[in-house]
Amino acid sequence: MAEAKLPRKTAAQKARALEILGELKRRYPDAHCELDWSKPHELLLATILSAQCTDASVNRATPGLFRAFPTPADYARATPAEIEPHIRSIGLFRNKAKAVHETCRRLVEHYGGEVPRTMEELLTLRGVARKTANVVLGNCFGINEGVVVDTHVERLSQRFGLSRGKTPLAIERDLMALFPREDWCLLSHLLIFHGRRACKARGGNCAGDALCRRFCADGIKAARAEEKPRAAGAAADRKSPKSPAPKVARASSSRR
Ligand code: SF4
Repeated sequence: MAEAKLPRKTAAQKARALEILGELKRRYPDAHCELDWSKPHELLLATILSAQCTDASVNRATPGLFRAFPTPADYARATPAEIEPHIRSIGLFRNKAKAVHETCRRLVEHYGGEVPRTMEELLTLRGVARKTANVVLGNCFGINEGVVVDTHVERLSQRFGLSRGKTPLAIERDLMALFPREDWCLLSHLLIFHGRRACKARGGNCAGDALCRRFCADGIKAARAEEKPRAAGAAADRKSPKSPAPKVARASSSRR
């Protein structure tokens, strides 16, 4: 996706995006991919397995899976039925076993058993769309080809006013246009960290979260709603004559 064809953003929009990025970096200095892996093909397969289920459930299954099938050639030699028992605890495991087998077969037949390093090649693998390809390129090879847009990134991009896009691709293009390329991979980790820890699907502590109070319309609204009664109370205090000190307080102070 050529950067030249990305949507145009104003300097003010980019400056605001950088502020959000800075705050997220300060807030989550250790943001990282939460899938466990040690070799590129392991992250590729873990990401395929993570479709419509949590990283935690994938991480519970993959140590056994990776031990049983150490290389792409081992998956390619096995049948999907032989892979299934190792991922039975993960949703849609039958389809995913087929995708894992097919992907590894293609890795062996077309890419010498290695994970390819281009978006175009990765998209030829079964079960791999832009999101998975971006995860692999960014985390395994440090290649910022695009921004990973999962459910958290989608939600937070909209709530922080970074995109009004209705599809992951439209949101990805807005994020690519707003943020420096060298931060694309980290940006998705940061948004995912915020989405998992502070702003879940049903919202979070909108008024009490310093980041949200500044950058999310809901947070700004909640903070204002909290401040209104406080301001009204302070104004009422200023208008009304000083109320006498409670008797109990006087009695206790005289005992001291
Ligand atoms: S203000 Fe609330 S809805 Fe908005 S990002 Fe923060 S937690 Fe989520």
